[in-house]
Amino acid sequence: MTLHIPTPLIESRPLSQACGSNMWLKLDALQPSGSFKLRGVGHACEVHHARGARRFVSSSGGNAGLAVAYAGRKLGVPVTVVVPETTTERAKELLRQEDAEVIVHGSAWHEANALAQTLVGADAAFIHPFDDPLLWAGHASLVDEVAQTGLKPDAVVLSVGGGGLLSGVVEGLQRNGWVDVPVVAVETEGAASLHAAMRAGHSVELQQLTSIATSLGAKRVADQALASTRQHPVVSQLVSDHQAVQACQQFLHDHRLLVEPACGAALALAYSTQALAAYRTVLIVVCGGATATLAQIQAWAASTRPQ
Ligand SMILES: *Cc1c(COP(=O)(O)O)cnc(C)c1O
Repeated sequence: MTLHIPTPLIESRPLSQACGSNMWLKLDALQPSGSFKLRGVGHACEVHHARGARRFVSSSGGNAGLAVAYAGRKLGVPVTVVVPETTTERAKELLRQEDAEVIVHGSAWHEANALAQTLVGADAAFIHPFDDPLLWAGHASLVDEVAQTGLKPDAVVLSVGGGGLLSGVVEGLQRNGWVDVPVVAVETEGAASLHAAMRAGHSVELQQLTSIATSLGAKRVADQALASTRQHPVVSQLVSDHQAVQACQQFLHDHRLLVEPACGAALALAYSTQALAAYRTVLIVVCGGATATLAQIQAWAASTRPQ
């Protein structure tokens, strides 16, 4: 038994027609916590629980925090999430819905995170949003599920924030012997920390994050994310916030699923670029995201500009 669920794998006619390749969707937006994060976070929480953790602590007001809250409720382990004042009411409401204790502290994430660290005693486990081998092992299950269906794609498209999903998917590709299946790693221009690191050839800290895709907002990717690009073929691609948000709207129309711009970034590569033309069969990781409302997506669509 795992805390995450095996998700549907479907062929998308609208996306296939939009970009000319056979587009397959791994629908991790349907995870009970609303995003793929539950794969890795659920695994990490189960391991820490088995090792005796009696509380889980997170400093993510986004999908990682939600996954910890869900995992804690399912395992009967109390969860504390420390978030900064900038966290939306919607995100706090979702955390409380999962019975997590929400502490609002500080004007920016690093202040919330600093308080969270002080709450991690001997019997509590801190669950990182992207930089932990336990997470990557859990995320890798996404590739196992695809391999079990017999479908072998010519490329896998996914979004990158801190690079936990990338690290896990590469681990999954390698452990299934798919060393020849490239990963197309998509970021928005205002949150392109992997792109900067790949270009520099070493880990880079971005000065600032300007994208509306807050779930991609890591100033620096995990070291393993950059290492993954050396262990496996990885292509970096960028899209604008406008393209990401347009993709959210088009995807809602086409597949009746509301996802965050963080996920729209991966979808945008198929909807509005030619970047996938070289691949016959493409798997898109529909990573999901629970914190954006329809009203917010519509407001972003009105406020971002085409380039
Ligand atoms: C966390 C998240 C990402 C990015 O994942 P990383 O492991 O940080 O690269 C992308 N999309 C959604 C919806 C997320 O919650």
